Amino acid sequence: MDEEKIREMYENMPDDQLLNIALNEMDQLRDEFKQILRGVLRDRNLLSQTVKETISAGEEEMEEEFEKILESFRQTPCPLCQGHSRLNALSLRRTLGVLLFSFKWKRVVIGCPDCLNKKYRGAQLFNWLLGFWGFPGWYLAPIYLLGNKRDYSNMLNSGDEPTEDLINYVKENQKWLKVKLLQ
Ligand SMILES: [Zn+2]
Repeated sequence: MDEEKIREMYENMPDDQLLNIALNEMDQLRDEFKQILRGVLRDRNLLSQTVKETISAGEEEMEEEFEKILESFRQTPCPLCQGHSRLNALSLRRTLGVLLFSFKWKRVVIGCPDCLNKKYRGAQLFNWLLGFWGFPGWYLAPIYLLGNKRDYSNMLNSGDEPTEDLINYVKENQKWLKVKLLQ
């Protein structure tokens, strides 16, 4: 086919068909035909859309890869008991009251549902026993107790869904988790 005929063919194609070729068959086209296709796309103001759709296709692939890494990570043994229930994560706040001060910290714990339950109860007991000592503790300890309770209940209520804490952890460690889990 000569270039004129190709140009005519592209010019008579509906937008979606043209975009389909651009997105799926571009790398099979001869260079001069690519030029023509780009020209027709540009004339119809479709070039930016093509670029956008190519990018969103790439994002979809990344999303799929992330889901794979997340699921593989959830199936690794529990770091706390070596058990094989799917992992989740929970951030637990603790506060320790001492007269005029309150020490406070927050830590994300990763583990199986049983271990997260134990860690949750441990943190709450800690806050009950040690959080209220001292002046700031009187208002901080209840906030910490309620915050932990809310996050733990949310985790239970969402069934087997990964928590935001787990998703964030996997996102932050995506690179080495990918090497460790997918290859
Ligand atoms: Zn465990």
